[in-house]
Amino acid sequence: MKKWECTVCGYVHEGDEPPDECPVCSADKSMFVEITGDDNPVEQVSASAPQPAAKPSMSKALYLKASELISTYHLHPITVHTPNGIIPMAVIFLAITAFLGFPLFETAALYSLVFVLLNMPVVIFTGYEMWLKRYQGALTTLFKIKIAAAVVTVVALLTLIIWRIVQPEIVTSPSSGRWVYLAVSLLLLMAVGVAGHMGGKLVFGGRSK
Ligand SMILES: [Zn+2]
Repeated sequence: MKKWECTVCGYVHEGDEPPDECPVCSADKSMFVEITGDDNPVEQVSASAPQPAAKPSMSKALYLKASELISTYHLHPITVHTPNGIIPMAVIFLAITAFLGFPLFETAALYSLVFVLLNMPVVIFTGYEMWLKRYQGALTTLFKIKIAAAVVTVVALLTLIIWRIVQPEIVTSPSSGRWVYLAVSLLLLMAVGVAGHMGGKLVFGGRSK
């Protein structure tokens, strides 16, 4: 039995042929390389190591340092816990105010949403760096979904925050707009859930156990 490794996500397939599509990251059959007996994948055609630059400029050097820190210290999995941890709480707080009427929960939700929005540039930048570095910027279905989820997250956050500033009583006083507001917060929750699920699939999905 031969072994094939997905060069995008590292998923290992056993069989005479590589699968038509990677079950983890949806990469094409052509992205699979055969793993030989010594457990090293067969050298890829496009494996040309980047030449070290003679003397990078100040901004380039800073960027390279940031990029190195992001992959060394796994800053993306750390920073994604801001939206994934805080947004469920904010949505529950909004629901508490809408259904039970404790306005302080709604204020807490607003501050939580602002905090998450301020963190989003870091979350997106670290995610983008990991995507380029670990997955060669491969634009498979999985990454398209992750990018779409990030866009929905930012748009929904901006919508909720701006709406709340323009109409401060949107959740605290009964109106049909309140339910639309809550629906947008649920959409936000779904977007971070989907992005998190895809991230988990990337990191753990390729393992048999
Ligand atoms: Zn894959």
